[in-house]
Amino acid sequence: MIPVDSSQVSGGTAILAHRHLADSTHLRTPVPVTVAYGDGIGPEIMEAVLRVLDAAGAPLRYDVIEIGEKCYHQGHTSGIAPETWEILRRNRVLLKAPITTPQGSGYKSLNVTIRKTLNLFANVRPAKAYTPFVASSHPKMNLIVIRENEEDLYAGIEHQQTPEVVQVLKLVTRPGCERIIRYAFEYARAYGRHKVTCMTKDNIMKLTDGLFHSIFDEVAATYPDIAAEHQIIDIGAARLADQPGRFDVIVTLNLYGDIISDIAAQISGSVGLAGSANIGSEAAMFEAVHGSAPDIAGLGIANPSGLLVAATQMLVHVGAADTAETIKNAWLCTLEDGIHTADIYRPGVSALQVGTRDFATAVIARLGQEPRQLTPVHYRAGGIHVVPTPVARTNKQLVGVDVFLDWNDAGRNPHDLGAMLERTAPEGWHLKMITNRGVKVYPGGVPETFCTDHWRCRFTASSGGPCSFDQVLVLLGALHAAGLDVIKTEHLYTFDGRRGYSLGQGE
Ligand code: NAD
Repeated sequence: MIPVDSSQVSGGTAILAHRHLADSTHLRTPVPVTVAYGDGIGPEIMEAVLRVLDAAGAPLRYDVIEIGEKCYHQGHTSGIAPETWEILRRNRVLLKAPITTPQGSGYKSLNVTIRKTLNLFANVRPAKAYTPFVASSHPKMNLIVIRENEEDLYAGIEHQQTPEVVQVLKLVTRPGCERIIRYAFEYARAYGRHKVTCMTKDNIMKLTDGLFHSIFDEVAATYPDIAAEHQIIDIGAARLADQPGRFDVIVTLNLYGDIISDIAAQISGSVGLAGSANIGSEAAMFEAVHGSAPDIAGLGIANPSGLLVAATQMLVHVGAADTAETIKNAWLCTLEDGIHTADIYRPGVSALQVGTRDFATAVIARLGQEPRQLTPVHYRAGGIHVVPTPVARTNKQLVGVDVFLDWNDAGRNPHDLGAMLERTAPEGWHLKMITNRGVKVYPGGVPETFCTDHWRCRFTASSGGPCSFDQVLVLLGALHAAGLDVIKTEHLYTFDGRRGYSLGQGE
């Protein structure tokens, strides 16, 4: 669905490969939706939200599932029982209250598992100020963060390699970047937004973040009607916190998106008001931005707005835009009338402090009304569908290998290691450099550089040309035979002659 006055829409999200109609009377049979009550304040806010949905006549049918804390404690390390997946896959739409992830390394984040298993690649998080009814230092703020949801450091591939060093793999793929960036531009076009800002750290991570930035430039060129800009994430996040009004749609990688969407939600007024949609081509999940708030669980004071806004996003998604519109406008009226939960209550501005249940009752009482000062939302038909371009195979050539060693000889002198490797390397191999934590320490280097037990030793073919996998095996065999502890290797490739690896700092 596309909002008519898109500049004021904070809750609508788009659909992939689904029909969009502005009138949900076409939904003759109720749409099956999976519902998870979650942990902490989850059951209270879900109950409130379902009451509003029912009162508004939302054309939905619910299948309730158990996920989260109870499942973790039953021994399901991902917080979900295997048989529950069938329900999620069948219904394809999940309305989820927050869950509590138990502390400890044995537990996997259920959110990450659901997103990745169901291929929910786009996380869409609107952040909008509702001044003067909800305090915000940024009254003009009305932006959307579109976060890549599956890749980057959240691939969760971590290893301890030496007693001193652990690593995480940051995986960024061309189809993954293209899909989320195209989604952001399509979203901007569909929702009448004017600018997409890309945020990366490609001045440091030239290959991974550099890929995201370069695909952003490629895709942006195909949307001449939408302004495009790139900002380095650190200054971008600083500007977002200081002048959020200058942003419209922001598209970024997973970790940065996770952080800046929380900053955006917080400075808009309250994390308690923000909803979030996780969209894939086959399924979607809708939830509040906040967590399970164990500190106020059971007190009946939690703000159900975040989950309610997410539920309106879900209604748009399933084609019930008219119901979404009715609920969203009633919710805006409730805020406008000063009926506020404790997290947003302000003496002098708010009229009445209410608990979770009474807030829902106030929204229900306003169904059918439109706000007077806040701009009402309206939706009309439209849709978003993105398909990444197939990636052409390039001429890939092996030109060397980075061999990582756990080496802890007394003094940790890189020159001792360098001399040993020069002596040990079989014919045909040239030791190009040794780095420690990415900094070149051999040849050259300075004694001030701190060295750990983790050494990256770069070998290239003496000929300066390509080498073979068999040669790599011979090299590794020689290093092993010399008593060196090889912990991993990374092949150095060129792609159509273009270097596919970064240089060492100082190389
Ligand atoms: P939180 O968002 O639960 O709470 C932070 C603060 O905001 C607390 O003071 C809380 O009382 C308040 N708050 C949050 N939601 C509110 C609401 N609707 N109304 C009023 N006040 C609200 O964050 P946390 O304390 O860091 O995390 C608690 C638990 O939630 C953790 O186990 C965490 O893993 C989990 N969590 C789950 C999700 C999710 O399921 N999507 C997201 C974030 C955190």
